[in-house]
Amino acid sequence: ERGRLQRLLHTPAVTMDGERVQLLANIEMPEDAALALKAGALGVGLFRSEFLFMGRQGKLPDEEEQYQAYKRAVEGMKGLPVTIRTVDVGADKPLDDSLRDDAHLNPALGLRAIRWSLADPAMFLTQLRAILRAAAHGQVHLLVPMLAHAREIRQTLAHIDHARAMLDNRGVVYGPVKLGAMIEIPAAALSLKLFLKHFDFLSIGTNDLIQYTLAIDRADESVAHLYDPLHPAVLQLVANTIAECRAQGKDVSVCGEMAGDTSLTRLLLGLGLRSFSMHPAQILAVKQEVLRSDAGKLAVWAEQVLASEDPALLLVRH
Ligand code: PEP
Ligand code: MG
Repeated sequence: ERGRLQRLLHTPAVTMDGERVQLLANIEMPEDAALALKAGALGVGLFRSEFLFMGRQGKLPDEEEQYQAYKRAVEGMKGLPVTIRTVDVGADKPLDDSLRDDAHLNPALGLRAIRWSLADPAMFLTQLRAILRAAAHGQVHLLVPMLAHAREIRQTLAHIDHARAMLDNRGVVYGPVKLGAMIEIPAAALSLKLFLKHFDFLSIGTNDLIQYTLAIDRADESVAHLYDPLHPAVLQLVANTIAECRAQGKDVSVCGEMAGDTSLTRLLLGLGLRSFSMHPAQILAVKQEVLRSDAGKLAVWAEQVLASEDPALLLVRH
């Protein structure tokens, strides 16, 4: 099976009816870029930058260290796009105790991701400058996690402008970036107009979107059986986000675990998704599903799945 999949490495991911699909990699460290290329990724759809911040005692990475790391990832992808997500610590991705108090009753509902970045502007500006500087070395997309409020969006965009102005003042070279937001809080998935007004692209974080829609802690084994990507409410939010982006001509991808789950590839294609970002090890298996799919027929079927009260039953039978 592995050998058979390997033969698909250089085959373009196109459905039987001619729809091109973009298969991207999720990475955690700059060195993973090599793995992503070797796995046939056409870019990085999610660089989880928090892994540069984790496992460190006493001191976060400074601008230079971050710049070097992002630059390595960008250069490692050899001209292909790299989506760098600003730091998403907290909840399932805690920092060292000396850097941040992560002992909260509900860390997943607390000061994580963009909320933490906005609470510590100096730290956020440092990261933004490093990302903007790395963008001088290739195609960089800047992705912001866990946004929900208009005010957070305004503050984030203001910080990005400020970071550019600081680099201008220092006379430091930086590059252009496309700006994207993660859709991973139900409130965001229900405020798409706001997000489409301010961002170039959206990326659906299904891991958190499922957690917050169903009130299921993604890290709690005792409720893992209720963590359901196929709950009709989750599918509605995913489907609406894809449809709205397509209607407005904006890029949209899924970068949660759903994107790398081959049992869901056909459904996501049917919902109109054309960009999937996943663990590099999943890329060829997902490509195989794409090659076997007729997107037009899947769109008709996906409508039925969306209307079903138990979508899992339809997936088993299909
Ligand atoms: C997600 O929530 O789906 C996602 C991709 O982000 P993370 O898993 O890093 O929270
Ligand atoms: Mg997330």
